[in-house]
Amino acid sequence: MIRARNPLVEMDGDQMTRIIWRQVKEQLIHPFVDVPLEYYDLGLEHRDATDDRVTHEAARAIRKHGVGVKCATITPSIAQVAELKLKKAWPSPNGTIRSELDGTVFRKPILAANVPVAVRSWRKPIVIGRHAYGDIYKATEMSVPGAGRMELLFTPASGAPERRLVHEFKGPGVVMGMHNTEKSIRSFAQACIRYALDERIDIWFSAKDTISKTYHTFFKGVFAEETERRKGEMAAAGISYRYLLIDDAVAQIMKHEGGILWALMNYDGDVQSDMVAAGFGSLGMMTSELVSPEGCYEFEAAHGTVARHYKDHLAGKATSTNSVATIFAWTGALRKRGQLDKTPELSAFAGKVERSVLGCIEEGVMTKDLARLVHNANEPARNTWVTTEEFIAAVAKRIASSGE
Ligand code: NAP
Ligand code: MG
Repeated sequence: MIRARNPLVEMDGDQMTRIIWRQVKEQLIHPFVDVPLEYYDLGLEHRDATDDRVTHEAARAIRKHGVGVKCATITPSIAQVAELKLKKAWPSPNGTIRSELDGTVFRKPILAANVPVAVRSWRKPIVIGRHAYGDIYKATEMSVPGAGRMELLFTPASGAPERRLVHEFKGPGVVMGMHNTEKSIRSFAQACIRYALDERIDIWFSAKDTISKTYHTFFKGVFAEETERRKGEMAAAGISYRYLLIDDAVAQIMKHEGGILWALMNYDGDVQSDMVAAGFGSLGMMTSELVSPEGCYEFEAAHGTVARHYKDHLAGKATSTNSVATIFAWTGALRKRGQLDKTPELSAFAGKVERSVLGCIEEGVMTKDLARLVHNANEPARNTWVTTEEFIAAVAKRIASSGE
């Protein structure tokens, strides 16, 4: 039995992913590793019962122990508040955890040799590093009813105010004021460099500094300074930094082989991460890692709670939900725990589980979402795919019988 020295913060979740979570833990983790788990139930019911305190406690526990693994959770809609009789529309747990850790989210696709990707040149993962603070996500907007003058006004804590003309309106229109902070941009750049050094991959950062000569140029400047500061370490790791204009980067990525970290401003990261996820095939094959500037880590699947499959499950129908991203969230957390605690056998076990997962898929044991891609059919033949439970059981069998 492999032993972990320090605990993992375990955050349970909702719906279909909660079902998968238990099976993964019972069949792929507990039989092979002895790891202390500090359990937080972030299932919607318990968040509601604790007035969401449990989410804040879990976030603080990640800061304390350094590594967490999280199941997908429901962010309740207004309709769900009424339907489930919730006290209120609790905020997204991911948002709460992200702001507590001031982290950057990295999304990484998992590639299996026999699952075709939409972009032929993509042979290695393209990791998206999305800045998760500010810009249009924290903007103030206003509709302009008619003719008038719109200005930006900055009133400094001391000294004279500064003004800039936005537009001299002749008729109705709209305006938006958005911001970012040097502190947040710098910690984003630092998290990207840390991630790229850990994974030994090149970094791209792209924006539109030719047009936005102050705002985007500020981001570009911070990235230039931070990469310059860690030039030595980057050279030693054999990795490089490149700035590209965003439109150039979008065109370049389509003929690139992958194996890079693409750092993006908030909106670009939102849009491009969905493009990259779709291009690599299935949402069930995309993991997400939150890295804080102080070196705390949280791992999860990038997808949600797969509500539609859960409905089928509740109705007693067999499901074929892909558990790969959830399994890789666990292996990511175990590998990181092993690295931080200097227990290489734990990291090696994580690698073994990942190879077992890919081994199953490459031998043709896969869930329906992958069978669709492999057989290029919306309704692939029943003998080409297995159920949610069968896939996890196949992986467990492969881990146990692997001679490694
Ligand atoms: P979703 O759970 O990601 O699922 C959307 C669709 O994508 C599914 O219906 C399914 O398509 C496919 N899919 C996603 N993951 C899959 C998997 N592992 N295996 C096979 N197919 C998969 O998104 P949603 O239905 O929009 O959101 C459901 C809930 O999740 C919401 O309450 C939302 O707030 C929450 N959410 C949580 C997180 C998080 O905790 N990180 C992230 C996103 C969303 P088919 O139905 O066509 O098979
Ligand atoms: Mg999006």
